[in-house]
Amino acid sequence: MSIIKLSNVSKFYYNKKTISSGFTKINVEFDMGEFVVITGESGSGKSTLLNVISGLDSYEEGEMYINGEETSHYTEVDYENYRRKYIGNIFQNFNLVNSYTVYENIELVLLLNGYKRREIKNKILDIIKTVGLTKYKNTKASKLSGGQKQRVAIARALAKDTPIIVADEPTGSLDVKSARSIMKLLHDISKEKLVVIVTHNYEQVEEYATRKISMHDGKIIEDKKIVKTEPVKANPVQYKNICNKDKVLLGFKNAFNIKTKFLLLLMVYLFLTILVFSEYTSLQKIDYDNDSNGYNYYFQDVSNNRVIVNKKDRSSFTRDDIDNIGKLENVDYLVENDILLDIQVAVYDNENYIHGSVSSLNNLKNVDVGSMPSNEHEIVISASQNSSYLIFSDKDDIIGKEFYLQNDSGGFPIDYKVKIVGIKYDDSLLYSAKIYANDAILNDLMKIENLFYSTTDLKVNNQIFKGDKSRLYYDIMPSERVASGKAVAFQDLNLYCKDYTCTGTDITLNVNNIYYEESATLKVSKIYNKDNFKELTGYDDINDFYNVIFISTKDYDRLYSKGTYQISVYLEDAKNANTTIKKLNDLSYETFYVKDALADPISNFMDIIRLLRSIVFVIATIILFFISYFVIKIILKSRNIYFSTIRILGATKKISKQLLNIELLIDINVAYVLFLLLVLAVKINIINIAYISDMVSFLKISDYVIVYFILMIMSLLISNRYSHKLFKDSVMNTFREDV
Ligand code: ADP
Ligand code: MG
Repeated sequence: MSIIKLSNVSKFYYNKKTISSGFTKINVEFDMGEFVVITGESGSGKSTLLNVISGLDSYEEGEMYINGEETSHYTEVDYENYRRKYIGNIFQNFNLVNSYTVYENIELVLLLNGYKRREIKNKILDIIKTVGLTKYKNTKASKLSGGQKQRVAIARALAKDTPIIVADEPTGSLDVKSARSIMKLLHDISKEKLVVIVTHNYEQVEEYATRKISMHDGKIIEDKKIVKTEPVKANPVQYKNICNKDKVLLGFKNAFNIKTKFLLLLMVYLFLTILVFSEYTSLQKIDYDNDSNGYNYYFQDVSNNRVIVNKKDRSSFTRDDIDNIGKLENVDYLVENDILLDIQVAVYDNENYIHGSVSSLNNLKNVDVGSMPSNEHEIVISASQNSSYLIFSDKDDIIGKEFYLQNDSGGFPIDYKVKIVGIKYDDSLLYSAKIYANDAILNDLMKIENLFYSTTDLKVNNQIFKGDKSRLYYDIMPSERVASGKAVAFQDLNLYCKDYTCTGTDITLNVNNIYYEESATLKVSKIYNKDNFKELTGYDDINDFYNVIFISTKDYDRLYSKGTYQISVYLEDAKNANTTIKKLNDLSYETFYVKDALADPISNFMDIIRLLRSIVFVIATIILFFISYFVIKIILKSRNIYFSTIRILGATKKISKQLLNIELLIDINVAYVLFLLLVLAVKINIINIAYISDMVSFLKISDYVIVYFILMIMSLLISNRYSHKLFKDSVMNTFREDV
C-alpha cells in the first residue's frame, strides 16, 4: 500500500471574482523509499501538489489517501496530526526564524514536538554537525548565506525525523555549488524516507532521483520510474506537545527577541495603559466632583476636608483625645469648638457692613494690605478683591478703624468693638467675607454660641420658666460688675416674686444642651432700672438690653463654657476621607462628614452624567481596544511568518495561540511595571508630570488592581483576535497572505 495516493484530486483557488485551478484530476501514488523529482514550467501546479500532499493546503475534488485512509473528511486538527507525524517541509525561501540562532531554530522544532529542553542539546549539536554548520551554531539565521540557511532548514527537517520530506525548489535561490551540496545533503538524510522534490533544474538531482514526474498545466504529463525501489515501512513520529515551562520560556524569548518589535509593542501598551488609567480616573473624578457639589444652610464651612467629630458618650474631649486624633494619618489639623466655623458675624459701622464667617488667626499666614493683628480686639478681614460689595473702594477707609462686631444669633454685646488692621485677598470669597480673629475674640463668640445652642430654664419662687417655650422672655448675660453667686435682674421679674420684689430671692438657672446639663442657684442682689443700669452692669445703654439677667463672668463661664464637645477634623486629602472616618469610628468617635450633608440640587442630573460617563468609559475602552488591535496587528504582521512557520513545524493552533498570549502578556506586564515606575517617580518627585500626578491622586490600590485586570483582559482579547485571524485559514493561505 502506498503511503500517499491521490485519485482524481483537483485543487482550485478561489479569489474574489475568479476561480483558478492549481491542478486537475491528478492520479498519483508515492511509496516510502522513493526519491521523487517533480519538474515542469512555472505555474504548472508543482507547488500546489506539494502543499496538498503535505497537508498544508486543502483540495476540492477527488480523494487523497494517507496509508490507505481517506482524507476528504479531515479537519484542521487531523491535518495537524498528519503533518506532525509524517511531514518535514523545506521551502525555497527557507522559512527560518531569522531572529533565532541556528541552534535555536533546530531547538524550536524539537520543543514544539514535545522534547525537553535539557535532553536535546547533544542531538541538536549532532544534527548541526551533520549539515556542516557547527561553526555557525550561535549565528542568527538572518546572518547566514542562502546555502547555509537551506542547511538549517534541512537540519530542522532532520531533527523532526519524519518519514516524508517535501522540498519545494530547495535550491531555487542558491548558486550552483551550494545547490549541488544541498541536493547531496538531502539525499544523504533521506535513506528509507520518501522524498519529494520540486525543481527547475533536473540535472542537479538526476544522480539521486528514483522517479521523475513532469507537470504541465495542472496535469501530470510524465511519470517515470528511474530506479526501482523497495517499499519500506513508514515510521510515523511519536510526538508530544510542548510542556508548559518551555511554552513560557519560548514566550519570553519571543517577547524580547526582536528589539524593534518589543519596543513598538511596549510603546503601544504603555500608551494603552496610560489611556485606560486616564479614562478610569476621569470616572473616579466625576464621582468626586459630584460629591463636592451642593450647599448647606447650616454649615458655613462645607469643605470636603472637614469631618465633625463627637465622643460617642457625648462627654467632652480630653487633651489625650485631641492629641490622638491630631496624630492620625491624613489629619491635617483640628479645630476645637468648631461651632464658630459655622456662624456668621457682621463687622459694621454707620457706613460699612461686612458679613462673613470667622476663622482663627492661626490659619492666616500673612496679609495683603495692612498688618497682622498684634493687640487684643484686632482682626483681619478676607474677601475677593473683585468683590467691591465686601471690600470697599477705599481700603484706607477701613484699615485701622474701629467697627462693631455682632454675631448672627444676636446675643453678642451690642457694643463689642474690633479694629480691622489687615486685609487678605481670597478669590474664593465672592459673596461672603471671612473674619480672622484671635482666641480671645473667638472665646467670646463661643460663649454666646453656647448660650444660643442651649436652653436656660429659670426657676424663681417655685415657678419654672422653660427657656425654649416660656412666655417670659429673658436673656442671660455676663457682667464684670456682678459678684459670683449673685444676679442682677430685670424689673419685670419682680412680678413673679413674693411682694413683687425679687431682691434677695434665690433663682436657679438650669442650662441644657445636647452635650451637658449644668445649673447654678444665685441670689438676686439688685433689680436694674435706667438710672442704675450702667453702674450695676457696666454696659452703656439700657435700651440695647431687653429682660436680661446679668450674672458674674465666673458663673457665666461655668454655665456656658464647658469643655470641648465637638471638634472639626481637617483632612490632608479628602479622597481618603472614608479611611480616616473609619479609623475615627473604630476609636469610638462619632463622625459627621459635612460633605455628606450637602443638599445637591443637581444630583439626579449628576447621576445621568455619571451613567453617561460610564458608557463613555466602556466605549472609549472598546475604541482603545480596536486602535491598539490595529496597531498591534501591523506590528505583528512580521510575526505571521513566525506563526505559520511554527504551525508547519508542528505547533497546534492551541499552542500557537498560547505562545502569542504569553508573548503579549509579557509585553503588557512590562508596560504596566514601567507605568508603575513612572507613577513612583512622580510620587517621590523625581520627575514632574502634572497629568500623571493629578491622575494618581485619584487612584487607590484597588484601582490599580482593577485596571491591571482590564489591561490583561484587553491583551488576551487582542491576542485571541489576532490568532483567530492567523488560524482562520489553512497554513498556506495564511502564509501566502504575508509573504
Ligand atoms: P508552480 O509551483 O508549478 O510554479 P503553482 O502550484 O504555484 O505552480 O501554481 C499552479 C497554478 O495555480 C497557477 O496557475 C497559479 O496561477 C495558480 N495559483 C497558485 N497559487 C495561487 C493562489 N494563491 N491563488 C490563485 N491561484 C494560484
Ligand atoms: Mg512553485
